[in-house]
Amino acid sequence: MSTPAVHPDTPPVPAAESVSSLASSAAEILVLHTADEQGMCTHCRAAYALLVPHPCSQRGWASRVDRRVVTRQTLDVLGIAA
Ligand SMILES: [Zn+2]
Repeated sequence: MSTPAVHPDTPPVPAAESVSSLASSAAEILVLHTADEQGMCTHCRAAYALLVPHPCSQRGWASRVDRRVVTRQTLDVLGIAA
């Protein structure tokens, strides 16, 4: 019976594509989830029929992601430059 190879000393390396796609998802959310004249989120109302005050939770998430990501330098610093 063989055991799977486990290397606890080497943490998994995130793929550069994952970081980029996360950033582009966040960028889309920042564009879509904007406030209407009443201060509610336009996209949450249009897409999900939810009346949510702006910034909604998705917008909040996207703005946090957007601040950290993503330049070539970020990928270099993280050691995952393609
Ligand atoms: Zn929203």
